[in-house]
Amino acid sequence: MSFADDFIREVKKQSSRGRCLHYESSVRCDKIVSAHSIQRSGQLAHIAENGHVYRLNSDFSTLKKNNGKPMMRKVGLNRASAFAGFCGTHDNELFAPIDNFPLRPDAQQVALYAYRSLCREYFVKENAVRALPNLVNNHNLSPSAKDMLTACYEGNTIGFNNLKYHKGQYDQALLSKNYSDFAYTIFTSNSPCALQLSGLLHPDYDFTGGHLQTLGTEEPALDLITFFTAPIENGWSFSFAWHVSSSSTCEKFLGSLAAAVHSGVKLKDALLRLSIVCENHALRISWWDALPPDSKAALQERMLAFYPYNQFYLAAGFEGIADWSFEHVHTTLQPVRLG
Ligand SMILES: [Zn+2]
Repeated sequence: MSFADDFIREVKKQSSRGRCLHYESSVRCDKIVSAHSIQRSGQLAHIAENGHVYRLNSDFSTLKKNNGKPMMRKVGLNRASAFAGFCGTHDNELFAPIDNFPLRPDAQQVALYAYRSLCREYFVKENAVRALPNLVNNHNLSPSAKDMLTACYEGNTIGFNNLKYHKGQYDQALLSKNYSDFAYTIFTSNSPCALQLSGLLHPDYDFTGGHLQTLGTEEPALDLITFFTAPIENGWSFSFAWHVSSSSTCEKFLGSLAAAVHSGVKLKDALLRLSIVCENHALRISWWDALPPDSKAALQERMLAFYPYNQFYLAAGFEGIADWSFEHVHTTLQPVRLG
């Protein structure tokens, strides 16, 4: 059997291995559901056309079929962004305040969105860490491919250990209902929305190209920020949220965004630059189809690029593509003097 077949089978096996990542999971979590990391009714339905959204598909089977090129693929709402990471009971109970109500925002809702972003990434990283050792030993691999997979395994292991640390912090905060352990900055919009996403980042460079922390190190755990779109009463929002244990880096990260906007950078452009490095996204089909070919090509190239990006990846580029705007900001940050 070829390596590609092995790879596809192994990744599918890990992704379908359901487990409950709830902070109180136990043997009673026996009915694992396909949980949406991007809400189905409030978020995906908001951008869906005929029940479908676009996702950039660069999984191995797509690349194999398409001469190594990724494809923007129409995905039905039930399949987009779903992952087998919670049992039905915990999924329903825990996320009711965000699945049944628009973001007001309140601290509990923000904590839940952040937790869902974290758990989804935890699920994906854990799958990679489990799948890769089984692949490294495939005898069809060339020595260089073996080295690449080994490096990939080591990188994912560091990433997963980082996430385990943060999940411990999030679990503890949610278990004790200490929602004020989460800080946030939320931009609200009532213009049409073209994308939905839920992701996270260990910020390495900020929105002006300044260095924040060095990736690829095991100790100490790198600071972590989550970001996500969410429905609000009359529109949608783009939000950042983090546990206060990561405030040192996250406050600088958001401070740089404020400084960039103050110096003339458009907020919508800066947020688009961040959005396109988040692989857990969904796009409005007509928005993407109407983009000029060179914009599409540039966006796809960035979506597929691997870390590390250059230090200005959030500071410049992709201007004028985003057609949404933001009206208000809600934040737990103290106002800071710019410049
Ligand atoms: Zn459960």
